[in-house]
Formats: sequence, structure tokens, C-alpha cells
Amino acid sequence: MDIVQNLKNIKESLPGQAALVAISKTKPSSMVQDLYNAGHLDFGENKVQDLLDKQRELPGKIRWHMVGHLQTNKVKYISPFVYLIHSVDSLKLLRVINKEGMKNSRVISCLFQLHIASESSKFGLSEQELIEILESDEFRGMEYVDIRGLMGMATFTDDSEVVRREFKNLRSIFEKAKSNFFAEKDNFSILSMGMSDDFRIAIEEGSNMVRVGSLIFGQRYYP
Ligand SMILES: *Cc1c(COP(=O)(O)O)cnc(C)c1O
Repeated sequence: MDIVQNLKNIKESLPGQAALVAISKTKPSSMVQDLYNAGHLDFGENKVQDLLDKQRELPGKIRWHMVGHLQTNKVKYISPFVYLIHSVDSLKLLRVINKEGMKNSRVISCLFQLHIASESSKFGLSEQELIEILESDEFRGMEYVDIRGLMGMATFTDDSEVVRREFKNLRSIFEKAKSNFFAEKDNFSILSMGMSDDFRIAIEEGSNMVRVGSLIFGQRYYP
């Protein structure tokens, strides 16, 4: 399997403004190195330990994305270098990210994760919870986090209409949040949606950042 070719094929099928984050979870650093050598910079992991291990082994120019559920007690490990946290799902977590950003004298870019799937297992905020955070004085006072947009995962199903409806819903929440809370800031611009099985639908529904793992690296044999 030629992972460089896989990545190239996906990239070529995306519209120009869409970013591709290669999700390297469970895959060896050597594979990340191969894609990096071919010019790719954006990689994502869903576990803090794996993100740390790969960040230590691989070139410093790589932009590391945290896409999995993040526990508050682990923020400190990734805050010195993480490029974008896709999975902010509480004000409590954001508070810790802000604090760690301050300690590291860096503003940390984040996305709020919205729960759009019908499965109860997926993390994320409801639209109402998002609005409550955005309206809070505490949020507005945070100087070391930069909210760049939203992330969401669709239901794991073969029914593409269900997936499409969920992505449409996320797009609509994104547009509302943008005009109601970020009208003066053009950096609220990232809509992270779409994985190996559904990124084409996600792109049709307005995604501008897809997170693709198995279609590049091959099947994973453990979670
Ligand atoms: C694993 C993972 C992906 C990539 O999944 P694939 O189906 O392998 O493309 C994307 N986003 C998140 C949050 C993930 O955990």
C-alpha cells in the first residue's frame, strides 16, 4: 500500500480551501515521516500519550492536531506545542486550556466539538450548551484560547441521508455561531467534519477540514 499516493488522491479530490488532517492513530511514526517527507504537515491523534510520543520522535515543523476526548489533567502535556485542539467539549476544559496557554505564553487554537450524531457515545456539546459558553463572561475574558470553529462526528451508519442531515445541522450551527458571536473576527472559520467514510458528504455540506485516517494509512486493527 502506498500511503503517499493515498494521501495525494484524497487531496486532489478536495476543493482547494479544504484542509486534510491525516489521522495517524495506532500507526507507526515511520508512516508519518513518509508523508512528512512528501510535504504533508497536518497530523492528528486521539490520545494524549500517542500525540506526545510522536511529537517527540518526529520533525518539529509538524502541526499536531488533538482530535480525541481530552481530559483536563492532560492538557498540560500538549499545551506547549499542539496546533489545534478539535475536541473542546466543556467550559471547564477550556478554562484549563486557557490557563496552560498563559503558562506557556501562547494562544492555543481550539474548536468546540458539537454532538450531532444520534449515538450517545460520542462526545460533544449541544447547540444550547455551546451558546451558553459563548455568552458567558468567563469565556469572553479568556485571552489564551482562540476559538477557530467547530468539529463534529456523524453517526456511524450506511445511511448517507442521516449523515448528510447531521452535517447540515453542524454547518447551520457553525453559521449561526459565526454571525452571532464572531462577526468581528474572521478567524472563526474552521468547520472540521468528515472522516474516511463520509468526508465527501461532509465537503458537499460545507466542511473545510477533513480528518482522514484509515483511507490513508489502511485499516486499524485496534481502537
Ligand atoms: C479516528 C478518527 C478519525 C479518522 O477516522 P477514519 O475513519 O480512520 O478516517 C477522525 N476523527 C476522529 C475524532 C477520530 O478519532
